[in-house]
Amino acid sequence: MRGWPRCLIVSSVLFAVACGGAATPELQLIEDAAEAMGGLRTVRQTTALTLTGEGRTFRLGQNTRPRSELPYYEVADYLLQIDYANQRWRLGQDRTSTFLTGGPLNGVRQTYGLDGDVAYDQQGDRMVRGADEVAADRWAEMYHNPLGIVLLALDETSTVSNLREEGAERVVDVVAANGTQFTLHVSGDTGLPSKVTSSSYHPNLGDVAIETLFEGYRETGGLGGSQARLTLPRRYTTNLDRFTISTYTTTSDPGADVGDLSAPSDVRAAPPPMATATVEVDELAAGVWRLAGQSHHSALIEFDEFLVLVEAPQSETRTLAVIERARALRPDKPLRYVVNTHHHYDHSAGIRAAVSEGLTVVTHRVNQPFFEDMVARRHSLVEDALTRNAQPLTLETVSSGAPHEITDGRRTLQVLRIVDDAHSDGMLMAYLPRERILFEVDAFSPAAAASPFAENLLRNIEDRGLRVETIVPLHGEVATLDELESAVRRTQSL
Ligand SMILES: [Zn+2]
Repeated sequence: MRGWPRCLIVSSVLFAVACGGAATPELQLIEDAAEAMGGLRTVRQTTALTLTGEGRTFRLGQNTRPRSELPYYEVADYLLQIDYANQRWRLGQDRTSTFLTGGPLNGVRQTYGLDGDVAYDQQGDRMVRGADEVAADRWAEMYHNPLGIVLLALDETSTVSNLREEGAERVVDVVAANGTQFTLHVSGDTGLPSKVTSSSYHPNLGDVAIETLFEGYRETGGLGGSQARLTLPRRYTTNLDRFTISTYTTTSDPGADVGDLSAPSDVRAAPPPMATATVEVDELAAGVWRLAGQSHHSALIEFDEFLVLVEAPQSETRTLAVIERARALRPDKPLRYVVNTHHHYDHSAGIRAAVSEGLTVVTHRVNQPFFEDMVARRHSLVEDALTRNAQPLTLETVSSGAPHEITDGRRTLQVLRIVDDAHSDGMLMAYLPRERILFEVDAFSPAAAASPFAENLLRNIEDRGLRVETIVPLHGEVATLDELESAVRRTQSL
């Protein structure tokens, strides 16, 4: 056990309390960590925490390729207030986008939080209640903090077990009274918490580990004279699965008054939102429909002997509703294909559901490993449609050159890569030459605040010699080529 002192505080007075009292080796590790953070008594007495600072939050599933770096917001005026005694927290931060987008942010305040089992988010000038799954994730997030996890582990309603060594760290499992499980890593060098891991369910990724790394420990101010000093990290890095999703550099103040962090009473009284999907059918031409959603649309194209869906977006709920509607429109023909425009999570979240319904996925070839992995991933925390009805992935990939054609000899759908699209490397559009209808998403959304990708879309249309008349954006309303051209002119004149 060299390098693992039974206790890091060698004061003879504290020794008996800190090192002699723990009932199990696991609790001993926790008490030692508390001592390293400033003292067991001080930790027990500290039930609130304020963190201020700056950082970055990353946009999961919005990278240009499935494994490339995530785009991020720069965060300023970060303020996180946690009230452990009442299990509440609130986070405020100013976000500035650092990537090309149709909805750029420049220092826009974001506020959200948790009050026990109620998640809430600021939307405009009011607070709205979040889903129960969001509340469960936020409850766990409260303990992705050294003070939080040590307080939780010291709580007699928690279970601390399975002490083990991993490299230079000691590791225990902490299970809260509500069943939420954490793994705590403690540094062998300092005796301080180095990492907390918990699990969550992500619709695209399935069962995922979320870990927060603690670095740059520093003693807090303790300006109040009698106010106890704690040693807390300066840097927090949170990873979800293989991706870093946030990094913050902070100053901690355990003495600041966090005030009342409860959710507004009308939010607490509101029912949690349920996932609903409305599908509105617009016929664009004979056998060509837009299946409109609240924010993300799909399209349906009829061929002699089968149907083709363009896009399975947003969620399993939406995609299953869209598939049901598509089949109701032409019940005598099998729905055979789904064209996926790009891998971004909001546009691929329904692919597992589409595979469970037996659809062949058409996507750009750069996305092949992404969809193979997506279909193979474990979804045990929430059993989704593909878990309930396992089906193999059937994939048709599109290369960058000649169009991929789906045809019955009379009607042809061309699936083409949008070359040089800065939003996504493998971005596809779909074109009906006879009807002169183009389906695209994120390259041009008529109502967007900005259109940074529209000029490139227009260039692709011209370079390919497509005689587009109607554009069906899968965000927003149906448009004309003229509208695309004026969006390009507006962007060029900025
Ligand atoms: Zn996108």
